[in-house]
Amino acid sequence: MSTESQTINTLLEESRTYEPSAEFRSQANLNDPLIYATAAEDPVAFWEEQAKQLSWTQPWSQVLDDSGAPFFRWFVGGKLNACYNCVDRHVEAGLGEKPAIICETEPGDHRIYTYSETLVEVSKIANALKALGVKKGDRVCVYMPMTAELCFTMLACARIGAAHNVVFGGFSPDSIAERVNDAEVKVIVTADGGWRRGKVIELKRMVDEAIELGCPTIEKVLVYERLGDATQYNKGTWYEGRDVSWSDLVENQPDSCPCEEMESEDLLFILYTSGSTGKPKGIMHTTGGYLTGVNATSRWVFDLKPDDIYWCTADCGWVTGHSYIVYGPMSNAATVLVYEGSPDFPDKDRFWRVIEKHRATILYTAPTAIRTFMKWGTQYPEQCDLSSLRLLGSVGEPINPEAWVWYHKYIGRKNCPIVDTWWQTETGGIMISPLPGLTTTKPGSATRPLPGISAAILSEEGHALTTISGSIDKPEEPIGGILALTKPWPSMLRGIWGDPERYVNTYWSRFDGLYFPGDGVKLDEDGFLFLLGRVDDIMLVAGHNISTMEVESALVDHPAVAEAAVIGKTHEIKGQGICAFVTIKSDVQVTESTIDELKAHVGIKIGPIARPDDIILTAELPKTRSGKIMRRLLRDIAEGRELGDTTTLGDPNVVAALRDKYEADGA
Ligand code: ATP
Ligand code: MG
Repeated sequence: MSTESQTINTLLEESRTYEPSAEFRSQANLNDPLIYATAAEDPVAFWEEQAKQLSWTQPWSQVLDDSGAPFFRWFVGGKLNACYNCVDRHVEAGLGEKPAIICETEPGDHRIYTYSETLVEVSKIANALKALGVKKGDRVCVYMPMTAELCFTMLACARIGAAHNVVFGGFSPDSIAERVNDAEVKVIVTADGGWRRGKVIELKRMVDEAIELGCPTIEKVLVYERLGDATQYNKGTWYEGRDVSWSDLVENQPDSCPCEEMESEDLLFILYTSGSTGKPKGIMHTTGGYLTGVNATSRWVFDLKPDDIYWCTADCGWVTGHSYIVYGPMSNAATVLVYEGSPDFPDKDRFWRVIEKHRATILYTAPTAIRTFMKWGTQYPEQCDLSSLRLLGSVGEPINPEAWVWYHKYIGRKNCPIVDTWWQTETGGIMISPLPGLTTTKPGSATRPLPGISAAILSEEGHALTTISGSIDKPEEPIGGILALTKPWPSMLRGIWGDPERYVNTYWSRFDGLYFPGDGVKLDEDGFLFLLGRVDDIMLVAGHNISTMEVESALVDHPAVAEAAVIGKTHEIKGQGICAFVTIKSDVQVTESTIDELKAHVGIKIGPIARPDDIILTAELPKTRSGKIMRRLLRDIAEGRELGDTTTLGDPNVVAALRDKYEADGA
């Protein structure tokens, strides 16, 4: 294997490693390394075993049907209901009094729903949806604040066999209309409003505006009175015949509702991707395979135990909320903490206060949040009691090693394993992650594929540089390339809604017969996998392929830097030059030499080739609504191009301000 065929040159070296403690290992759900080999020997049989953890009303006749590849089918002929698996069966097993959801509102009150209460709430909503004409096979758009009712509504859809299409409660009317029309939604469930940073977010008004733009398939809008009359909030227009009040309809429904028996391959939901790389795709997930995947991976990766208080800070508008707030943890009868608001309300210690208040034991959050906490400073977590925490997780972007170490030290107090989980909306569940009782971790590395998952690192031309399943052999030298998944897995997407051709083209055409996630990856000398960001983001500098993640991590390694986004920019001599947008920590004073110091730091850390040509200091970086850095917009700014799709942008002002600054700096 020659280095020339590498698609990515590997630069950053990380040598710090962390072993699971003997104490954690001995109690862990998975602590026998043999599981990797067993799964690799016969992945289909292995996944069949996992599916048996669910309650099926009819067993499958075939585990995997690959005759129509890449349109795979799992547990063919099997029947089950996802809501039954997440709620009813726990009540039937005597766990009715166990808290299912602890809902902390932004204003600071909270409510606990047991599994029995959840069953009643979900059944009433299911009956209400039926009363509005929703039938098995229909699509329901859910546009709600991050409350227990949002989770209940998703489960209610699953209960009656309608597919939910959750749209994040921060999206604009255009984005709602686009998703509603694409998915041909019949009913929208929304709320009068929600809280964000002390302000009301007017959800119902957004829905009104979306429908005014033209949503011909919408018949009814169900409005949950989240704010009610408690505020001066103006409810806007009420459309008689279309709008229906939750307190009138839902509260008066019977509190039981039968579960629809679903085929394993019946659609469970459609969810649009975050839009980091372009126009969002309507990803389809079906019932049996998806639930099998998220049920197993929740138990393995989060080591869920009966008395855990599990907190995933994502919103149900993203796949993380689907898989690791609702379907994964709840199918395991976990107690799930749900928080409605922002991390800095009323102050920047809110997350730590929530953990202290509810004695959370597991925290699953995103690198963007961790880097923000680093920017704010350690005084916030330090003044709270975080001793209940026993496991930490990260998802959504590569986590820079320094952010990982900070998370470990200040949040985990050096005694919580960290699971850096790589996956996508498309994969449904976690694919690459440590197992907390088994895996030695390295900051910035998602380590290795989970049992039952097979991967490969390919060159640009599609040659396998190495394959990985079961065990990883340490390579003689680091291998950088493109990630591919080489075998189907149960929670894989079943397609893009309404566009089978785009499904085949996007994921299955780059490499024959292999799934192409679009991410770069490196296997280091010790056999650790590092996800390096999007293949599209990789820079070609003087003949070297350099990943943005490695240069960003070198910048974040400097004590003054909170966050960095790196892009390649046309350069006369080098082909591409490196341009970095950098956010400095709150308590650091910027001086005239700061930029030169940062450039030099990257040069020392990973080599002169990666030294940035330009560094632009900025208070904020452009991010998606889910908090991911949008490098493609930075590229547009740097190349002086018109901006691409900006509908999934968190705060459009950030890009406008950056463009002005970039032009003013004359970079
Ligand atoms: P779009 O597909 O619309 O461009 P998106 O890819 O950001 O948006 P998601 O499905 O939410 O939408 O994100 C999946 C992507 O997030 C992965 O392909 C990967 O690039 C990144 N990612 C997620 N988790 C990790 C992780 N632990 N380490 C590195 N990257 C990660
Ligand atoms: Mg993607």
